[in-house]
Amino acid sequence: MESTATPPRHRPASGQSQPRPDAPPYRVDRLSEERAREGWMEEVLADDRTLYLPLRPGQGALGVESLATDRALQMVERSVLPAGEPTLHVYLGRVEDLSTSPAAGRHVVAIVHPGAVWGQWKDAGHDGGARWAGLRALAPVLEAAEAELLTQATAIAAWHAGHTHCPRCGAPTTVVQSGWVRLCPQDSSQHFPRTDPAIIVSVIDDQDRILLGANARWGGQRYSTLAGFVEPGETLEAAVIREVGEEAGIVVSEPAYVSSQSWPFPASIMLAFTARATQTSVRPDGEEIIALRWFTRAELAAAVRAGDVTPPTPLSVARHLIENWYGSSLPEPQASPATDGAGPPVAGR
Ligand SMILES: [Zn+2]
Repeated sequence: MESTATPPRHRPASGQSQPRPDAPPYRVDRLSEERAREGWMEEVLADDRTLYLPLRPGQGALGVESLATDRALQMVERSVLPAGEPTLHVYLGRVEDLSTSPAAGRHVVAIVHPGAVWGQWKDAGHDGGARWAGLRALAPVLEAAEAELLTQATAIAAWHAGHTHCPRCGAPTTVVQSGWVRLCPQDSSQHFPRTDPAIIVSVIDDQDRILLGANARWGGQRYSTLAGFVEPGETLEAAVIREVGEEAGIVVSEPAYVSSQSWPFPASIMLAFTARATQTSVRPDGEEIIALRWFTRAELAAAVRAGDVTPPTPLSVARHLIENWYGSSLPEPQASPATDGAGPPVAGR
């Protein structure tokens, strides 16, 4: 697996994008105590200032799409919503006042309707010219609070879509607590949204070189850090050691946490680590990883400039790990024309 798209990331190691060290690393306050309260959702739905984020079941692995213009989410007020009960309402939170989004200082609710309902609504001209798109395409261009809203909405909507029935008795469950819990009417069991942890790791050797791998799905030139899912009953550190062993055939030590990135494709969080290689004779697993290379900083810079190696997209946690080791931003490839820095969305795992 890999991490190349750009949902919001907690970056304790960077500091550059945090004007205040005591500021929370989020722009949307989920108000998790309030949203669990009886009647909270009704109050929010009755508030004229509440904005709604339209969602529909989409194509592909992610399965959720939202409306957006070129660089912003298309959130709408209650007065223009489609008539009739939606498939789902989820309370996302209150956006910070300083945001440049129209949602600044307002509650935002994700609202899911079938595609056909939104289609008629769009045909009636309520969409402001926005188009349907997924998180992977939108995250690189959205303002930070809107990227957070969409990441959260995508993850929770995908969970609901895949968890409509009670895992104990099979009865259809109902949505409670503003969209954050499902309740079984038969046995009263409560079911909470899940997030699957995955580790991603920069492996460094005793010559201060970094190990990068080419995944079978990426086409050969794109190199990134190794990654994989944490298994039940396993610590994050053990997962780092096991994954590097499986994918590269070497033993690493001193796994150390760096930062995290939400990765709702459909339900993961990427936990970034760095680790020391105790050997350098690597062997790609041949299935997921087809090639492995050790790079000095000069070698990686030269390979990227020449276009021989394509690094992960600039806002990904994989790129963050590589640039943490490199010491600054990676150079741009010299052969290709300049881009706006966001880069194209790239297919993930
Ligand atoms: Zn049940």
